[in-house]
Amino acid sequence: MVHIEIDPKSGFCFGVINAIEKAEETLALEKSLYSLGDIVHNEQEMARLKDKGLYAIRHDELATIRGSKILFRAHGEPPSTYELARKYDIEVIDASCPVVLVLQKKIKTAYTENPSAQIVIYGKKGHAEVNGLVGQTDGNCIVIETKDELTNIDFTKDIILFSQTTKSVDGFNDLVKTIEEKLLPPAKLTYHDTICRQVANRIPNIHTFATKFDVVLFVSGIKSSNGKVLFQECKTVNKRSYFISTINDITDSMLKDAQSIGICGATSTPKWLMENVAQELNKRLNQ
Ligand code: SF4
Repeated sequence: MVHIEIDPKSGFCFGVINAIEKAEETLALEKSLYSLGDIVHNEQEMARLKDKGLYAIRHDELATIRGSKILFRAHGEPPSTYELARKYDIEVIDASCPVVLVLQKKIKTAYTENPSAQIVIYGKKGHAEVNGLVGQTDGNCIVIETKDELTNIDFTKDIILFSQTTKSVDGFNDLVKTIEEKLLPPAKLTYHDTICRQVANRIPNIHTFATKFDVVLFVSGIKSSNGKVLFQECKTVNKRSYFISTINDITDSMLKDAQSIGICGATSTPKWLMENVAQELNKRLNQ
């Protein structure tokens, strides 16, 4: 009998669970609902929600859904999106993650209370969450993705540094160190580690989990950037780690001679998908 186990710490974070629950609550009462972008970067989960009546639209399509309802996903939105919704008489179901809302508020306060300081955000330019953060400063902040982009900062002026919730703790600490080295007194650096531990703790957790099995099946959508990172982490501790998106991706060679198989996934991987994989493995190997 092959031992098959699902990682209890893999799958959606509470921000995404909350957004999906809000969508499903509305869809239980109404035929359809719009969401601004995909609620989660997983094709199967989006297909499941679409079957229930959820349609993801882009910002430039807001004008076409006047008078209807829209769900703002966990990433949060800038103030300009709320204004657009008001303008087009669209009712907002706000599923912005509470952790992101706190960060947005901190950035807004730092910006309004320190007009001469530079607000710097360690994050990915154009990412939905970062757009929401940048909006708190009316666009008057600097987004830094790598240390190479520090050339955009004036080191003779005060700096207030924040992080996108999903960035790496090591990368943030490294950035703080580099800025401190470059800073020209009396300019000061104030930094806020605003990285969400729901994501940051996944790497040590997945290392512990992946070492316990002969084979690891990592379940994720191919578009998930968190999925790519966590899969690489699995591979560093267990060479027989395989990336799959559906049960159709499982091959016999992946499972050859395995006495134990661990199933884990990204923050965007639905639990039901990992359960499907476990069922399929039990059918193939234990019946
Ligand atoms: S990763 Fe953290 S901040 Fe982002 S949605 Fe999930 S719980 Fe919220």
